[in-house]
Amino acid sequence: MSPKTELSPAFFSEAECRNIPMEMYPAPGDAAAEAIGKSVCAGCIVVDECLTWALKNGEHMGIWGGKTEAERRTINRKIKRNGNRDRTN
Ligand code: SF4
Repeated sequence: MSPKTELSPAFFSEAECRNIPMEMYPAPGDAAAEAIGKSVCAGCIVVDECLTWALKNGEHMGIWGGKTEAERRTINRKIKRNGNRDRTN
């Protein structure tokens, strides 16, 4: 069972990755493996919900919402700096 399934956020029943858990947990810095995980997210209909959930819940491992741990840290720094949930600035 996927760690993501165990967490059971509501959106997960529609997740593209629900049956392929290992692809979503590449070793940090393994760009090729990260690209595989991100390619799964690219076809996922709940990508926005997933990223929002991961940011709110401080997920620190794996690919969530098409973003790596490092990318989510960057987004969270921007959110803290901007004082809102704007991911683009
Ligand atoms: S966006 Fe990616 S990590 Fe999130 S549920 Fe979809 S496939 Fe899984």
